[in-house]
Amino acid sequence: MPATPAWPPGSLPRLFVDTALEEEGEIVIDSAQANYLVRVLRLKAGAQVKLFDDRTGEWLAELAHIGKRDAILRVEGHLRAREESPDLWLCFAPIKKGRIDWLVEKGCELGARRIMPVKTQRTQIGKVKHDKLRAYCIEAAEQCERTALPELANMVPLDTMLKDWPEDRTLFYAAERGGGSFRKALVENDGPAAVLIGPEGGFTEEEDEAIRALRQTAPISLGPRILRADTAAVAAISLWMAGRGDWN
Ligand code: SAM
Repeated sequence: MPATPAWPPGSLPRLFVDTALEEEGEIVIDSAQANYLVRVLRLKAGAQVKLFDDRTGEWLAELAHIGKRDAILRVEGHLRAREESPDLWLCFAPIKKGRIDWLVEKGCELGARRIMPVKTQRTQIGKVKHDKLRAYCIEAAEQCERTALPELANMVPLDTMLKDWPEDRTLFYAAERGGGSFRKALVENDGPAAVLIGPEGGFTEEEDEAIRALRQTAPISLGPRILRADTAAVAAISLWMAGRGDWN
């Protein structure tokens, strides 16, 4: 729910509600969302809003009642089913505050199905604020018209991630040195996928060896220049979405 009205004229405001929606159901929205619709967007009773619940899809609703601190929305009709997001995971070593929010927002906007912070030896921050990252995912999903939120995983140490890596999932490892052609790797590896992005300080030699030792790993290059981690994440997701995702 952006701070300022962000809906292009003619498109309805869009809110995520963490309750299963149904025809003619009534939803009480919290003060922040009510404040946004009534005071920021200046909506009046009877105005229409789009809702999605990450379960049943997207619905049309009417602002039925405006209270002092909340509001009631009445569900009118089903608009779209919950989408099947492209089967791509974004695995990344957390980076500094501000940039991690941006990275998660972009991961959601670009269509990643799962977002997984990975603790590496050179990771700069000890823990990630899960609720805050979830709020960024929700805002990005409201904005980019997703009907399915990305699954936001808890941070996992790199060695645990590698030990438990799914048999059928390709790990496209963004290696600033010794990475191969991404285009070629995309042709050779269809099916479930993930991109792995290192910390600003890069992976250690030991970590690099362990990642490359995993059978499912495909080391890829994102070009001759050293990209910042968040840039590398956007580039890697975009290349996969264009080659294997739903950008066709
Ligand atoms: N400190 C590292 C160095 O100087 O070698 C740079 C790390 S870079 C800022 C952060 C992460 O972005 C890397 O670990 C890698 O996953 C990814 N990355 C950056 N540039 C890349 C490139 N040209 N090809 C592949 N991955 C890249």
